[in-house]
Amino acid sequence: MIVTINPATGEQLAEYPVMIAGQIDSVLRQADADFRRWRSTSFGERRTCMKRLAELLREQAEKHGRIITLEMGKPFSQAVAEVNKCAWVCDYFADHAEEFLQPEQSEIDGAKGIVAFEPLGVILGVMPWNFPYWQVLRFAAPILMAGNGIVVKHAPNVTGCAIAIEKLFRDAGFPEHLYRAVHIDLDEVDRLTGFMIDHPVIKAVSVTGSTGAGQAVAAKAGKALKRSVLELGGSDPYIVLEDADLAQAVDACVAGRLLNAGQSCIAAKRFIVRKEIIGEFTKKIVQRMQTAVMGDPFAKSTEVGPIAREDLRDLVHSQVQRSVEAGAELLWGGHVPNAPGWYYPPTVLSGVKPGMPAYSEEIFGPVATIIEVADDDEAVAIANDSEFGLGSAVFSQDVERALGIARRLEAGSCFINTMVKSDPRLPFGGVKQSGYGRELSHHGIREFVNIKTFYLP
Ligand code: NDP
Repeated sequence: MIVTINPATGEQLAEYPVMIAGQIDSVLRQADADFRRWRSTSFGERRTCMKRLAELLREQAEKHGRIITLEMGKPFSQAVAEVNKCAWVCDYFADHAEEFLQPEQSEIDGAKGIVAFEPLGVILGVMPWNFPYWQVLRFAAPILMAGNGIVVKHAPNVTGCAIAIEKLFRDAGFPEHLYRAVHIDLDEVDRLTGFMIDHPVIKAVSVTGSTGAGQAVAAKAGKALKRSVLELGGSDPYIVLEDADLAQAVDACVAGRLLNAGQSCIAAKRFIVRKEIIGEFTKKIVQRMQTAVMGDPFAKSTEVGPIAREDLRDLVHSQVQRSVEAGAELLWGGHVPNAPGWYYPPTVLSGVKPGMPAYSEEIFGPVATIIEVADDDEAVAIANDSEFGLGSAVFSQDVERALGIARRLEAGSCFINTMVKSDPRLPFGGVKQSGYGRELSHHGIREFVNIKTFYLP
């Protein structure tokens, strides 16, 4: 049984039966049968279903936002915004997939070369709980528009979301088994994910989650010689130079750190600040973290909800405690509230140095980590002194100088004077332990296709 729990209260929400290997085998075979019909549909037919899905997401945004907030605790307004963003990604790929997958023609020594982008088959998604709709829809929309099928293993604490998403695809008119969710007992995840990856129906796998999950799944995919895309953790550096518009930088740092209670791969995780402005910057950050409202995620005034699971809240607290023991200064927060639910308050750590968890580990909670640097070279060196390389940001009124720094950062993206965001029109992904491959944009839709060459003399 999978048991879901409301992180705002600690109370049980629902119980769901888990699947055994035989049931998963049937799901995969049914998905494959629907894929074989779907692959020969026109872009127009696929577009009709995807547009209807976008409409349903918009019409039912509050209903689905409620499931998200109940299961993983993000403030309701953020949950509704997440569902609406899913509608955007569906519209985007409905409108652009055909153009992105247009065959390319060239002349080669008098012969004709044609490159076509054909579907691969059924793609497995291993998905997390932090953006339980967005992570899934940004993976699914391009894959289905390219003519593939999908089987998703969601994180168990968002099983209600998993079931609701599966129904949305059916209601939108997609073939009944083209998009399927599987529900797996925690003790069986490793074995049954291996079973799916080895299964002849599964042609590739995409993981969004921790580096550990990515390593485990990619190792199995490698052994089975199946393609993988990995969207893993991050510890995004936000470099604040002495000529930055401080109000703008503080706004972006606080918003980027508190969104979803800090549980985002592209959250603002390390504030790397020039020593000339560190006093003023720190004062403003503390003020903002002190006034951020934490509480019931359904209350309109709430900015910070609970952490999604008790073990994850305990991990954040232990990272803060171990950083303080290693010499970091705790300027605000840093305690577990004596109340129901898995809340963790906005917290500020300054004087963070190498050897502290706040310096080197991904902290998945509302914890601002402030690191002082003497000059731009040191800022770049510290930003790159991380096993992760997902997003990054630089704040300076001199955009050329900021761009010069951005080019030296080991990251999948760098945003200037604003927080890091994902956008259907731009590729999203990382380097180093943050994974490989790209989602979104025309780059993302080409990850799960057979780039097929035709040669006509
Ligand atoms: P996980 O990476 O364990 O979970 C993400 C997904 O991967 C879940 O569906 C999970 O399933 C699955 N998974 C984990 N291990 C395996 C495996 N061996 N084989 C197949 N699937 C697997 O994240 P957690 O929920 O444990 O969170 C831990 C930390 O991971 C967070 O504190 C954060 O640092 C990071 N994280 C990063 C995310 C991001 O967007 N970058 C998203 C979520 C977490 P199951 O839960 O059933 O094991």
